[in-house]
Amino acid sequence: MTTHENDAYDVVISGASIAGSAAAVLLARRGVRVALLERRSDPAAYKVLCTHYLQPCAYPVLDELGLVPALEKAGAVRNEARWYTRWGWIEPKAAPGGPELPYAYNIRRSTLDPLIRSHAARTPGVDLLLGHTVSGLIQEAGRTVGVRVSTAEGEREIRARLVIGADGKDSAVARFAGAPARLHRNQRFSYFAHFRDLPLRDGITQSWFLEPDVAYAMPNDDGVTVVAVIPDKKRLPDFRRDLEGSFLDFVRALPEAPPIDSAERVTKITGTVNYPLHSRKPTAPGIAFIGDAALAGDPLWGVGCGWALQSAQWLAEAVSAAVSGRGDLEQALAAYARRHRRGLHGHQHLAADYAKARPFNPFERLMFSAAARDEAMARHMHLFASRLIGPLRFLNPVALARASAVNLRHRGTAVPAPPVPLSRTDS
Ligand SMILES: Cc1cc2nc3c(=O)[nH]c(=O)nc-3n(C[C@H](O)[C@H](O)[C@H](O)COP(=O)(O)OP(=O)(O)OC[C@H]3O[C@@H](n4cnc5c(N)ncnc54)[C@H](O)[C@@H]3O)c2cc1C
Repeated sequence: MTTHENDAYDVVISGASIAGSAAAVLLARRGVRVALLERRSDPAAYKVLCTHYLQPCAYPVLDELGLVPALEKAGAVRNEARWYTRWGWIEPKAAPGGPELPYAYNIRRSTLDPLIRSHAARTPGVDLLLGHTVSGLIQEAGRTVGVRVSTAEGEREIRARLVIGADGKDSAVARFAGAPARLHRNQRFSYFAHFRDLPLRDGITQSWFLEPDVAYAMPNDDGVTVVAVIPDKKRLPDFRRDLEGSFLDFVRALPEAPPIDSAERVTKITGTVNYPLHSRKPTAPGIAFIGDAALAGDPLWGVGCGWALQSAQWLAEAVSAAVSGRGDLEQALAAYARRHRRGLHGHQHLAADYAKARPFNPFERLMFSAAARDEAMARHMHLFASRLIGPLRFLNPVALARASAVNLRHRGTAVPAPPVPLSRTDS
């Protein structure tokens, strides 16, 4: 084991995907010396298991990173969405004469990941070390003070004031630190595939809330549309018997189904059948977790990339002075943990409940039905789905009163039952 002369870093980050690369840039810009370690050697490596929807909550971080022009040049699609519910389509639109609706981007991870990683590599103060796998932690007096790393050339140690776990939901740093995660069962499974030449209504993202099943079609860069189905796990044995047939039939049977039969499928159908939500305390002595390493939500909501970026920003804002030797690191980490909890805990709580694959609860029925019937409620819904407001603001008394008033005006309209689950025999 060797400790190199130049291992004089303030921070060492495990994982150079979205969260790690963003944190590296944002810390280095604040004068922090960063070692950014990535176990994969290929600078163009990317996460395959993702459907690439960056929620509008990500926009301010992408903007601070200076990535917006590069994303637009790479063909990222500004995301607007319409959602099917049993009350009809929710179609958020800007208020007449009002500001445009907040947006971020749909961009495939094969485009995004190399782009953000190379941005980090070009940032003065960041050393991107590919093919570096964190294989242990250095701990002194109950505190983490660095990492052990395996490389093709052998083992090395890198010391730093702070170790950041940005190494995904199965975080190695968390495992070595003995930082347990709280798990929430996910009663849905998901499969998705990429298509070319698949026109979508208004050219925007379509979501179907079929209670309990869910589906999406999302236009991305380079003319590729991602189609995802997220059914109740009860359907998994049937679904798996003929994965391709089940996937295609599920999509064909959607209301206003995208015409997949006339489109070209350009990837295999891939997905995950067991994806519990999890979260852990985002700090430990000498350690901070960001992105999925701190909290992995339900893929159904397309929030993980936005939260990876936001948590990187919250951490950089909280700790950059302290890790440069200008402040108390424990206090800075506590501030980050509070910010993380305030930003994400409420969303995760609701998502964990919805992951039970249940139909909408009374609050959701009230808000979704009103959003399908009223433009202002649709805009309110957009802010919540974009993760620009949390559950408390979404369900504030004024919004609840407005939703009730909207629904009272529709009192004569029969309340539809949840949609009948789609199955192959229905189509
Ligand atoms: C089916 C599915 C669909 C999804 N769709 C969306 C979506 O539409 N929108 C959205 O916002 N989110 C989506 N997500 C979630 C999203 O993919 C994650 O939240 C996001 O990738 C988290 O980013 P991250 O940087 O925290 O971690 P990751 O992207 O998982 O990156 C972790 C990095 O750490 C590296 N690493 C791991 N171990 C080590 C080690 N020991 N040493 C060094 N490096 C290491 C890995 O190689 C990797 O590069 C989806 C997830 C799934 C499963």
